[in-house]
Amino acid sequence: MVKAPPDHTPMAVDSQDSSSFQSMTPIPSPNQLPIHSMRKKIIQTVFNNDCCIFLGETGCGKTTQIPRFLYEAREKKFKNILNKKSQRNKNLICCTQPRRVAAISVAERVASEINQKCGQLVGYSVRFDESVSRQTKIKYMTDGMLLREALLDPNLRQYSIIILDEAHERTLHTDLLFGIVKQALEYRKKSKKNPLHVLVMSATMNVDLFSNYFNQAPVLYLQGRQYPIDVFHVQDIQTDYIHASLVTLFQIHRSTPLNEGILIFLTGQDEIDSTCKTIKHIIASGTESLEPIVVLPLYANMATVKQMLVFKQTPMNIRKVIVSTNIGETSITIPGIRHVIDCGHVKTKTFNPQTGLELLQVQKISQAQAWQRAGRAGRECPGTCYRMYTEEEFDQLPSTPIPELLRCNLATAGLQILAMGITNISTFDFLSKPDEKSITAALRELTYLRAIKASNDNTYELTDDGRKMACFPLDPKLSRCLLASSDLGCLEEMLKLVSIMSVDTIFLTSSNINEKMKMQRQKFTMNEGDHLTLLNVYKTFIANKKTKEWCQINKINRRNLLRACAIRKQLRRICIELQLNIKSCGTKYSLVRQALAYGLFMNVAEYFKENDYRTINDRHIVKIHPSSVLFGAKPSLVVFTELIQTTKRFIRDITVVEPEWLLESNPDYFKTRLSSK
Ligand code: ADP
Ligand code: MG
Repeated sequence: MVKAPPDHTPMAVDSQDSSSFQSMTPIPSPNQLPIHSMRKKIIQTVFNNDCCIFLGETGCGKTTQIPRFLYEAREKKFKNILNKKSQRNKNLICCTQPRRVAAISVAERVASEINQKCGQLVGYSVRFDESVSRQTKIKYMTDGMLLREALLDPNLRQYSIIILDEAHERTLHTDLLFGIVKQALEYRKKSKKNPLHVLVMSATMNVDLFSNYFNQAPVLYLQGRQYPIDVFHVQDIQTDYIHASLVTLFQIHRSTPLNEGILIFLTGQDEIDSTCKTIKHIIASGTESLEPIVVLPLYANMATVKQMLVFKQTPMNIRKVIVSTNIGETSITIPGIRHVIDCGHVKTKTFNPQTGLELLQVQKISQAQAWQRAGRAGRECPGTCYRMYTEEEFDQLPSTPIPELLRCNLATAGLQILAMGITNISTFDFLSKPDEKSITAALRELTYLRAIKASNDNTYELTDDGRKMACFPLDPKLSRCLLASSDLGCLEEMLKLVSIMSVDTIFLTSSNINEKMKMQRQKFTMNEGDHLTLLNVYKTFIANKKTKEWCQINKINRRNLLRACAIRKQLRRICIELQLNIKSCGTKYSLVRQALAYGLFMNVAEYFKENDYRTINDRHIVKIHPSSVLFGAKPSLVVFTELIQTTKRFIRDITVVEPEWLLESNPDYFKTRLSSK
């Protein structure tokens, strides 16, 4: 049985070899988790209802045990009836996770609990990577993957049980799945042949909201936490949570045995990379004789292999410290973690429907997230959680996070909903309905992108281009860039570029650029902006055979670039299926910039005065980010990929464009805007 290596092009593993298949009934769990005492009740509740809701403390065994219980129970039943037909049905059980690292690590854990390899009975499927075979019956997957499958079959007929895990997170994808699954339940109930059971799970959620939504679905409370967790708050309000976290880390380090791992929650890659560096530096400087520490970062845009390092055991005489974003918050069990340090903040995207711009901002977490973070400590033995905020501050936090659907740009979601044949988004059965303004903004953006067109009475349908755009797992703006490049004859270049834009920075330690590194980077610099510079790095990387040495010399993040290569392959395959015109423009890079302008035309800024730019869309003042190759260059008109708010508002990843391109791409949109200069 092969498993797709994480840095590899995804592939469906479809082994014919059934000799390695082992039936899993009845296999004792390695440790008796609290949930085992409720096994019978769990099975009954799921099979006697269309939909039910389980609430149980973190660590009680929901994610790893319940899919197994259900599988085992069903196998037993079918063995008795020998129902050949139902065996022919795929009959899968899926369990969705908001994050890929969770889906992969949980699948691997459950497979190992039954002494199998991942990809046999238990597998996973995440964007750009999967490990499943014909034998797979329990599939852990990201909510985004199930949503993509729903595009092909809105009734999700290959699944007999769908578990929507970590419902409290209210990610955009999970929220959309609630609506889709609810519809599928209705349909499958009517058709009778292949009934569907849906299970919504979390440790912390508003059960009434969910129960009401799913027609008064029954709620089962799973008793018991495996191990107690002591929670401590700081006495005084902290202004610098990184500093506070570091002080706490070293206090724990000095006073507890070295085999007790520590998990620190911070907000983003830059913060995490620099904190990891600081910790290493303090240990290495030897000013205080401190015991050794191994420090590992964990954030979304790392290659999967690197993420998986956190799950490795460290020797008993070295302390393991993991510095993570909120991707370490739910679902996962990191072996050896006994202490959690929670900074109380998270980086989230918020969308302003008035301006049409998405903003990445650091915000306070919710109480539900705080409990999830604490929950990472008590999974193998009793633990402690240190919160870098006071008890009063905790009391004032919102109880649950604001659903992503209510604070993000709905263009991607809207396109997906329409692609499933739901023509009026306003009538989609949302668990929490986004406000009309956001829906209108999304529909407007999709119309400008020529992905949809209005038919009668408030309904919309996809255009031919829109149908193509929905096939890409990308922001519709980027899908438009790909289609535009197909027309302009530079799709090869745009595929590379969009792939790089789908991973995190390909430069090493973006936060601490020193002069030497700047010089080194200059050789890749293209005067027309960051996008072409990125493309240049990609091409040079390939020309130098993707070697480690080249990356080291040039301070390039090889893993991220390799991941971009894998993504490119995937996207290229979709382009072939869609019969796009896959051509290279050689060095006629103005075509690439033009194609970028066609997709990113709503992210345009014009030079205003001094170092200020003004966005065309809402006339906000922004500055060019210091990491940009155009920093200080003052071109008159640019498109950008991202708007971020730190001390000031910055635009990042910028390319110089010509006004004619914008007018061509969208005359209606720009006629008034550009002339009002
Ligand atoms: P829940 O979903 O209820 O939060 P899980 O099913 O994820 O709980 O995990 C239940 C317990 O199984 C954990 O508390 C831990 O003791 C154990 N466990 C799960 N995954 C692992 C792992 N990868 N390594 C060691 N123990 C694990
Ligand atoms: Mg879980």
